[in-house]
Amino acid sequence: MNTDFKNKKALVRVDFNVPLDSNYTITDDTRIRQALPTIRRILDGGGSVILMSHLDRPLKKLKDDGTVDVEKFTLNHLVDHLSELLHLKVKFCPESVGETASAMSAALKPGEVLLLENTRFQPEEEKGDSGFARKLAALGDVYVNDAFGTAHRAHASTTIVAQFFTKNTRMFGLLMEREIQNAEKVLTHPERPLTAIVGGTKVSDKILLLERFLNLVDNILIGGGMAYSFIKAQGGKVGSSLVEEDRIELAKELLKKATELGVKIYLPEDSIVTPDFKDSGNWTSLPSNSIPAGQMGLDIGEKAIGTFSQVILASKTIIWNGPMGVFEMSNFAKGTKSIALAVAEATRNGAFSLVGGGDSVAAVNQMGLAGKVSFVSTGGGAMLEFLEGKELPGIKAIHG
Ligand code: AMP
Repeated sequence: MNTDFKNKKALVRVDFNVPLDSNYTITDDTRIRQALPTIRRILDGGGSVILMSHLDRPLKKLKDDGTVDVEKFTLNHLVDHLSELLHLKVKFCPESVGETASAMSAALKPGEVLLLENTRFQPEEEKGDSGFARKLAALGDVYVNDAFGTAHRAHASTTIVAQFFTKNTRMFGLLMEREIQNAEKVLTHPERPLTAIVGGTKVSDKILLLERFLNLVDNILIGGGMAYSFIKAQGGKVGSSLVEEDRIELAKELLKKATELGVKIYLPEDSIVTPDFKDSGNWTSLPSNSIPAGQMGLDIGEKAIGTFSQVILASKTIIWNGPMGVFEMSNFAKGTKSIALAVAEATRNGAFSLVGGGDSVAAVNQMGLAGKVSFVSTGGGAMLEFLEGKELPGIKAIHG
């Protein structure tokens, strides 16, 4: 973002997809706060800012009469709070493109901020329609993409719009720059040992990630529901734990490939098991490969916590994607919490740690440990795809 913004109108794609309560009060403004440095940089540089964002998926949640629920999904709900944070009166445009949007953008003076209406009110947005993108592009002199969370979507305002700007007039915002730099840091020339912690529900969701990691990392710690497909692949008994029968062969192949490549895969030696998928105190600890019928593993056990923590503490770079157990239930949160603490300790000892992709981010935030790891990604699906090695459309569009 080293551009001279003086007297320029910057069209900035942000991710203001914030949670609202039933009175339309923002319950978590993290995403808005994360966009502030980029907005301030442009204003301080003598430019004006035209903000565009989506909020939820309004076209998937139409009113009973089939029309868009403007009252519920309007970005106008955000204007007062954004004004407070920026210490200036943010203007609001009740459309994202059209005569009003053009007139309000044209009238914008340096130092002013205009927020456009929810881009997803337009069906053209998610279709990546170039006519719509062209109209958006006409509103600004430069395009800044600071919405890493939607960088894996080739939507009009996240990707297609960039085509209408030259290489010098399209750029990443500060948040997006940081996301890319941190992800690249772990993917290219990481300090070793490099350990990946992978958890969550399904092997099928993480196949590409695991395959990529096999060629990249020294250790893979596998927890969460997906661990049981691997344990079953090794001949273990996993009771009614989550297993994807159609991925057992794949799990075997991944384990074999890891051995060939010299990558160490660690599966949890023990599990916290319970008869029902319920947050009850009715649990016990068992070896993960001897879980009887009628019992399911919902968290990693003490031995696994010990082994995983040792590996983490001996690592110089750590990537974490996915929780170690059903951390939303207090009885099965200990594994994820202990791993978060180990990552925080390793970071304090000098390791670089990146938490990215989905629920591990929620877990780290919930445990108040976000400030104790090196970087927490804002983009769930986007970070997962970046780590998988995919070229994200929103990034490609800026690079050209
Ligand atoms: P993902 O979105 O794939 O990262 O999965 C996150 C979800 O995995 C969380 O909602 C966890 O509750 C769930 N999860 C973690 N461990 C288990 C487990 N052992 N059995 C079932 N679900 C799990």
